[in-house]
Amino acid sequence: MSELNSALKEDQFYKTLLETTNAIPWQINWKTKAFSYIGPQIESLLGWTQDSWKTAQDWIDRMHPEDRDKTVNMCVSLSDQGTDHEADYRALTATGDYVWIRDVVHVIRENNETVAIIGFMFDISARKQMELELDALSRKNLALSLQDPLTLVANRKALSERIENEFKRAVRHQHALSLLFIDIDHFKPYNDNYGHLQGDHCLISVAQLLKQHFARASDFVARFGGEEFVVLLPETPLADAVQLAENFRQAVYALEIPHTKTGETTQVTVSIGVNSYDQNQQYHNVVDFLHSADELLYLAKNKGRNQVQYLTQSCV
Ligand code: GH3
Ligand code: MG
Ligand code: MG
Repeated sequence: MSELNSALKEDQFYKTLLETTNAIPWQINWKTKAFSYIGPQIESLLGWTQDSWKTAQDWIDRMHPEDRDKTVNMCVSLSDQGTDHEADYRALTATGDYVWIRDVVHVIRENNETVAIIGFMFDISARKQMELELDALSRKNLALSLQDPLTLVANRKALSERIENEFKRAVRHQHALSLLFIDIDHFKPYNDNYGHLQGDHCLISVAQLLKQHFARASDFVARFGGEEFVVLLPETPLADAVQLAENFRQAVYALEIPHTKTGETTQVTVSIGVNSYDQNQQYHNVVDFLHSADELLYLAKNKGRNQVQYLTQSCV
């Protein structure tokens, strides 16, 4: 035992310990910013030889450009302050790939001044990969929770969030915001006559047509429920929205989806209520705004369906 405790053996023990772990030890002289040590394992991880790590600049140069400024600024300032820290970044390999590294840094101080920093680099690629996959999965879940599974347009929940935001934006910036409330005419007899599956196909066709017609980045199409859809058109005045609604109504008619039980036409049609928030039409809240479009839709139904109804300026 006494032999094992000799200085040389102890050095050997620590060296072996440091250089055979998966974590890569290193030391930087903080005055000169030169590496005074880096474990030989660095070569098998990144491909750069042990003696190619001369100064902190080599570390900086071998960092992903997107991670560089943030990581270096944080490490320099915390090292200067004497605060131990950790940093995750992508390190460049000799073959041009990147490996995710977690650097765990301990600051050595003498007389209130940083004289060296020492630490371990850990390869966290597998963990990062898992985090990225989990992130992608949770983004996908979020997207699915806001989508109507049948028609693949936004669902009622997504509409509630969007309409609140758009309404606030319209009020704040005094932009026009138009809303189309669309309902398929005589859809109950359509289901009764052609069956629910065919009814589903009809809903999908109408939703697809909506997506084609309202394809600007700011346009928003949602299934309100059943055979009702809502389209939000930010920064679109009433006259434009009415024209777009009329074009859409005609396009549904032009699909010529047979429907012989309407008592009015021989094909599927839609009725639309169009409402616009602008300087003249000051709705107090989203509920009033939506309700008014719904009333216009019912006016369209009462007037014989297959038409667009809106409030003219003189009615306000
Ligand atoms: P109106 O012209 O006045 O709008 O009459 P309508 O028959 O279209 O209106 P109503 O509200 O009576 O009927 C809506 C129908 O939509 C009833 C319901 O079974 C059907 N529906 C709701 N959701 C779905 C769905 O996901 N798939 C199918 N196939 N039908 C649905
Ligand atoms: Mg309805
Ligand atoms: Mg209907």
